[in-house]
Amino acid sequence: MSIKQIGVVGAGTMGNGIAQACALAGIPVVMTDIAQAAVDRGLKAIDGSFERLVKKDKLAAEAKARAMSLVGTSTDTAALKDCDLVIEAATENLELKLKLFASLDGLAKPGAIIASNTSSISITRLAAATRRPDKVIGMHFFNPVPVMQLVELIRGLATANETYAAVEAVARQLGKTPVQVKNSPGFVVNRMLCPMINEAIFALSEGLATAQEIDDAMKLGCNHPIGPLALCDLIGVDVQLAVMQVLYEGFKDSKYRPAPLLVEMVEAGYLGRKTGRGFYSYG
Ligand code: NAD
Repeated sequence: MSIKQIGVVGAGTMGNGIAQACALAGIPVVMTDIAQAAVDRGLKAIDGSFERLVKKDKLAAEAKARAMSLVGTSTDTAALKDCDLVIEAATENLELKLKLFASLDGLAKPGAIIASNTSSISITRLAAATRRPDKVIGMHFFNPVPVMQLVELIRGLATANETYAAVEAVARQLGKTPVQVKNSPGFVVNRMLCPMINEAIFALSEGLATAQEIDDAMKLGCNHPIGPLALCDLIGVDVQLAVMQVLYEGFKDSKYRPAPLLVEMVEAGYLGRKTGRGFYSYG
């Protein structure tokens, strides 16, 4: 199964990063969103990201122009009908994604693969909203997409081997390293990363050490490039809570219970960098 044209649904943080990676790899891509403003912002983000590479002499101006010429945009999902692979990167909301998968199934050509970049929703469940569950798979990219090496490829219960093979080839073409993962709450990375951050929040609330000391300890003691609390601010304190809730509900195991301080931070609106305040303050 060869993938010659890719569609990306959602032009936000992840969607525009994925579209950028496709274009840079020489694959024509069409990026769609419900809102024209989001499409415009997404295209601007791709252009800005390429421009920074050009300024740093990491990308030739002609290569940038070639890549930009491969990015199409639309607010009409009909633009996805000729794609061999559609990567859904819309807002993380179960109802929204179930509806989207049913409608993508109706408009994508027969044989096209429909992938989701979801961080937490069951791929098997999304697949069941379509009549092609064998052609549905998780393609979990990491933020920022142009920089991060990993893609978790998540097999739903019905995902066919040919679907996996085709998507694995695309991931490699994008210069990424794929890891095959079974469909399970949090997949691999969030299953381990988010409980570690949660534990750091428990430690902070117990007064074990200050936020800065906890982060310094993990940076210096474990060679982590960033401490768990600073990372939580970067990911979004609300996103961290959402993942813990998925793990807690998915496994029904108390070891995944969200730290009370994490819940309270979200209640207070201290969502991290995006709101200017989380475990640290941002000017
Ligand atoms: P975002 O809010 O930046 O972008 C989401 C975009 O989806 C918005 O532009 C919105 O207008 C659009 N959208 C909403 N409904 C739509 C629809 N019906 N059709 C088309 N577009 C629609 O979100 P994001 O951070 O890019 O996250 C997107 C997905 O990627 C989520 O599933 C999220 O869990 C996952 N993800 C996010 C990260 C991250 O660090 N941000 C990392 C890995 C995976």
